Amino acid sequence: MDFQELRDLMVTTQLIPRGIKDERLLRVMRKVPRHLFVDEYVQDKAYDDMALPIGDGQTISQPYMVAVMTELLELTGDEKVLEIGTGSGYQTAILAELSKEVFTIERFANLSDRAKEKLTALDYDNIRFMVGDGTKGWPEEAPFHRILVTAGAPDIPETLAAQLTEGGIIVIPVGDFLSQRLVKGRKHKEKLSEEYHTPCVFVPLVGEYGWKDTRR
Ligand code: SAM
Repeated sequence: MDFQELRDLMVTTQLIPRGIKDERLLRVMRKVPRHLFVDEYVQDKAYDDMALPIGDGQTISQPYMVAVMTELLELTGDEKVLEIGTGSGYQTAILAELSKEVFTIERFANLSDRAKEKLTALDYDNIRFMVGDGTKGWPEEAPFHRILVTAGAPDIPETLAAQLTEGGIIVIPVGDFLSQRLVKGRKHKEKLSEEYHTPCVFVPLVGEYGWKDTRR
């Protein structure tokens, strides 16, 4: 299977026609080997227009959703980024390509360990990993220029908003258990101005400042 060809096709059929414009992002979406972040039995679907299972009831997000969320972050290459929900590590790789350093938190140790193994094998050296409840953020490393949450939350956790720099951006799916909307918040004078973007469906953000359990 020619994965480079599939990646190029993914960009030209799924991303550009739906309005993804950031040239740096499109270049990185053509480069990062998404198939290495999923199990072998679904590798042939890695560049399809869908989310895929990664174990523990969790998913690697659809390529388009990864692109939309990343574009909303307006990365220039100099940022310190916090990611909540490492999952497979694919989105982490995209962020690591486009920013200065990435701090990523995952609540399942086995997912975090696997992602770390893959990202290290791919030579990423600007990523720090933590296993724990990402709704608390990473206070020792705050503030962050950007925060990306890749699980659905009931609202924007204040703990995370507090860890953004002035002018910083948070992107997070907000809604109920069945569906959410991508929200982009920009911090100005201690307040977040919010913009509402595309509807989406994410696994729940489970933690002290998210959903309290996964059954709702
Ligand atoms: N971005 C990931 C990727 O590219 O594979 C997909 C992330 S998946 C949709 C959401 C992830 O958020 C899951 O791995 C889940 O375990 C994690 N998660 C949920 N609640 C969390 C929390 N409070 N702290 C850290 N991770 C959490």
